[in-house]
Amino acid sequence: MKFHVLTLFPEMITRGLTSGIMGRALEKGLIQLNAVNIRDYTQERHGKVDDYPYGGGAGMLMQAQPIYEAYEAVTGGKAVRTVYLTPQGERFTQQKAAELAEEEELILLCGHYEGIDERVLEEIVTDYISIGDYVLTGGELAGMVMIDAIARLVPGVLGNEDSSQEESFFNDLLEYPQYSRPEVWRGKAVPEVLLSGDHRQIRAWRLERSKERTALRRPDLYGKYQARQLAVKQLASDKRNNIHMMESLSRGRGEILYTNIWAGGENMALYDHDSGICMLTAEDPKEGELMAGILPEGGELAVISQPFLEEILGKRGYRPILRCRQALYTQRNPLPVRHKDIRRLSMDSLEYVCGHYCPDQGPEKADCEPGVDREYIRQRITAGAMYGIFLEGKLAGFGGIHREGSFGMLYVEEDSRRIGAGASLEAYIINRMLEKGWTPYCHIFEDNQASLRLQEKLGLYFASKTFLWMKKSTCK
Ligand code: SAM
Repeated sequence: MKFHVLTLFPEMITRGLTSGIMGRALEKGLIQLNAVNIRDYTQERHGKVDDYPYGGGAGMLMQAQPIYEAYEAVTGGKAVRTVYLTPQGERFTQQKAAELAEEEELILLCGHYEGIDERVLEEIVTDYISIGDYVLTGGELAGMVMIDAIARLVPGVLGNEDSSQEESFFNDLLEYPQYSRPEVWRGKAVPEVLLSGDHRQIRAWRLERSKERTALRRPDLYGKYQARQLAVKQLASDKRNNIHMMESLSRGRGEILYTNIWAGGENMALYDHDSGICMLTAEDPKEGELMAGILPEGGELAVISQPFLEEILGKRGYRPILRCRQALYTQRNPLPVRHKDIRRLSMDSLEYVCGHYCPDQGPEKADCEPGVDREYIRQRITAGAMYGIFLEGKLAGFGGIHREGSFGMLYVEEDSRRIGAGASLEAYIINRMLEKGWTPYCHIFEDNQASLRLQEKLGLYFASKTFLWMKKSTCK
């Protein structure tokens, strides 16, 4: 992942981020840092980049021209997500860090003095982000905070790829207390369970401590956690049809937009901000209309399982793109994996995956389908969510975990089929999901007989309802 920082103090950025874990990630090329001096782009003879604000007022303002030219030099006309660090922005969170970690490149614009001429912000900025409700003298420290939090989520940056999954804010809980050697320090012993070697008990103990700590230190977060847990419990009465929502909630992704589930009802509208996916379940058309009325502008896709919702969402610009069956793996035991050479894919395999998964889709068609365009596959690889199966050392197929949480994108080359490669790949992905404490589930095109048979063979159960994916689209 590449970070471009537009700043008046590039040395602050380079000095601040070249030691420790960030330094090693830079050395290994896992992240790249391009600190661009805005002053190098000014057309003013004396190198000036600021001037007085029109209408008067205290302080100086950074001018539009040098910032715009620095930005153009970095992008070369490409669309790159551009963040302006500002106390007026949306608050930076762990969720936002995870979302931005899936970008290939990111531009961070650091202001100074009283800020920046509004006109250039309107031209180039895609996101306004604040690191907290206080005012700093410049955006550099804020930019460094963001780079640190984002870069450590890039696969490979932290030694243990899953360590970021256990930390504070994951799923609205703060991390449990941790202990290291010695076993007793100043008369204080390490809790016995941690020495037991019983990993199930250790996980349960840690979850309890996380809950206690969050309730005490961050009651606001704990309230969110409890509401989610309660909703998951209610949805569990029809687990096969609701697993997509249950997983979205329990993995800390979906925001509840609308529900009466806490009162024993069956209406729920969830929104996954990161993927732009809405998940709806409604008791009747009246409830469906209410939900449709509050769907966010940014929503691109919707998953529904009641036929009447198709017409309701159709009136709001959504159109059907695929019908599928939902299947879930309910056991806790990992599945056997026959072909064992399965690895997490790196960006070197992007062409391979795109070439095989959407071989004859022009950009327009690809844009109309969820989960199949090049940019999406690039993001899934960047997120460490794509796996490849290697037969005799050669990549022969792949599969992965979708943004909203289901597994899929399964593909095995023609001449490697019927030897159990697809089953091995899927079993491997299911096992990775089980390790994270998730319930693996997938959506299969309703006419894909081979895939439907594979789910049965691996012991997955099917939901009774048919699921419809709809897209709010400008595609013809
Ligand atoms: N006059 C501006 C206002 O009231 O919004 C504040 C300008 S501040 C002194 C200078 C620069 O510091 C900003 O342009 C921004 O880039 C950065 N900055 C200050 N506080 C920040 C915060 N809480 N989060 C992110 N960036 C911040």
